[in-house]
Amino acid sequence: MTLVRYLLALDEGTTSARAAVYDSEGRRIAMESAPIDCRYPHPGWVEQDALTGAGAIWPAQLDATRRTLAAANVDPKDIAALGITNQRETTLVWDRVSGEPIAPAIVWQCRRTADYCAGLASSSSSRSTIEEKTGLVIDAYFSASKIRWILDHVPEAQNRARAGDLVFGNVDTWLIWKLTGGKVHVTDPSNASRTMLYNIETGDWDNELLAIFDVPRAMLPTVVPSSAVCGTTTIFGSEIPIAGIAGDQQSALFGQACFSPGLSKNTYGTGCFALMHTGGTRPVSRNRLLATRACSLDEKPQFAVEGAVFIAGAAVQWLRDKMGLITNAAESEAIAASVPDTGGVYVVPAFVGLGAPHWDSSARGTITGITASTDRARIVRATLEGIAYQTRELTDAMQADSGTKLQELRVDGGASANAFLMQFQADILGCRIVRPADIETTALGAAYLAGLATGVYKNTDDLAQFWRSERVFEPKMNADQRESLFAGWKSAIARARA
Ligand code: ADP
Repeated sequence: MTLVRYLLALDEGTTSARAAVYDSEGRRIAMESAPIDCRYPHPGWVEQDALTGAGAIWPAQLDATRRTLAAANVDPKDIAALGITNQRETTLVWDRVSGEPIAPAIVWQCRRTADYCAGLASSSSSRSTIEEKTGLVIDAYFSASKIRWILDHVPEAQNRARAGDLVFGNVDTWLIWKLTGGKVHVTDPSNASRTMLYNIETGDWDNELLAIFDVPRAMLPTVVPSSAVCGTTTIFGSEIPIAGIAGDQQSALFGQACFSPGLSKNTYGTGCFALMHTGGTRPVSRNRLLATRACSLDEKPQFAVEGAVFIAGAAVQWLRDKMGLITNAAESEAIAASVPDTGGVYVVPAFVGLGAPHWDSSARGTITGITASTDRARIVRATLEGIAYQTRELTDAMQADSGTKLQELRVDGGASANAFLMQFQADILGCRIVRPADIETTALGAAYLAGLATGVYKNTDDLAQFWRSERVFEPKMNADQRESLFAGWKSAIARARA
């Protein structure tokens, strides 16, 4: 009898915690999710609870995982390993002994440290040190300023951190801490490279960066390869090795089988994240993209260039929850397709400022070109188009950096299910869009990493065989129309930034 071996992926996103079980051919057997609650205590602030309450990170992840195991009907003894992927940058600080968070989790979207970051960026020496060592652009998005905020605002926190009583983690680290009963405090290079404290070339926390942010090294997790056994958990009824860790976007790059230089993907979730693998070479962007660590199978570093847009699918949620223009996200597709164009309307969803390539914290959401004929369908359509235009800005920067034209973009994430959006994306990029059979590539990447570490999968060539395209969107728009529409977007962006 052959041994059946499964992999479990824990995928803790911004809006939901998911879990999935895969078989040894990379096929998904079950996937369940539980919602994560966000709080917005002030304009631009975004928080989540880590430990208590139904919509908190840990209980939601546990709930989703238990339900997934039940739905898969797999004996936990047959799970070879689990992998974790997570919303990146979101910052947690907790007590080493009690395991209690000392503040709510500060979510990646939160802008509370924008002024602090602007101050840092105004010093050209700090700025060049930070940007050279981390590959990042100084911005409130990354973890370092969020840690600083917690240490500054919770009484005694700085002293307790110095004494080694407090620990920091992104969501991967927090989940592993909880899964191992506080025994293991680790992260991987893909997550570490988003903290702004990690030197992406040396592969270690950097003393100069720690000094700039005044963050004690004692708080920080040990960095282990993305694909390696780093601990075990017994929480699901059997001993399961924890063998994969990756930040959600690098995990999706891996799940899309983008293992070699030039292969690119874009994820349409809450935000949009376009990544191009650059192999063992650290990229240097001249167009305000980020250089980041891709998943590592061993100690050898792997890199990617990344463009991040903060609000993408979240703009569709806004249409539903705040504007009441749609009742569910999927409906936006038919409504957008019911009109031939937006009639010159552009929706720039700069709700929390603009990410790459603008990096403008002060920009705000803007709708331009409204006339008496602007109706619900045109606003819905312009919102979806706004997601595609933002992606175009990222791929333009990638193409300018690499000097090569993008031939194909692999897509995933919740909003990639929207065929109107994908066709418009192909049109506005003038490039083929390929959607794989399994768009849950974030979870898949974590399962692949865990499977490689435990011998369920032999090598990345094996994994590349599993990748299947489900639908290809070819560009149909002529170049004149494409460029004229994109010129209109650029004017709308200028107004959002004014
Ligand atoms: P995350 O991992 O960031 O939580 P997901 O990949 O689950 O995000 O995608 C959820 C996002 O995608 C939501 O913001 C939602 O509004 C959007 N979305 C989901 N389905 C569609 C759809 N059919 N059309 C447009 N947007 C969608």
